[in-house]
Amino acid sequence: MDLKTKNQFKNMLTQMKDTLTLGLERCLNDSKEEVNGGVPDIADEATRTYNRQVMLNLSEQERSQLSKVNEAIQKLEDGRYGICDECGDRIPVKRLKVVPFAKFCVTCKSNMEENP
Ligand SMILES: [Zn+2]
Repeated sequence: MDLKTKNQFKNMLTQMKDTLTLGLERCLNDSKEEVNGGVPDIADEATRTYNRQVMLNLSEQERSQLSKVNEAIQKLEDGRYGICDECGDRIPVKRLKVVPFAKFCVTCKSNMEENP
């Protein structure tokens, strides 16, 4: 992978990281507000529980994505980026452009999905 491509992915991943970090902060602020917000309303309770659930799921997903992004940035730094964790083959740049934090090549990924 040449330096230009590498920098391209670095920018992409850093941007993703920023977006995710902002998202996490937003979630944390929202839940803080909820704790301090006025007298609980029974009619609101169901909606509130649902929203909280959605938020928890979202932030969990975002958190796991964030750790993948961080891992990919780390790999870029120590030159292991774009190498499949399973078979050691190169992951095609075309695939990395779609999923910049991909850890596996398409072959290994589909093998895993077929035999979990
Ligand atoms: Zn592989």
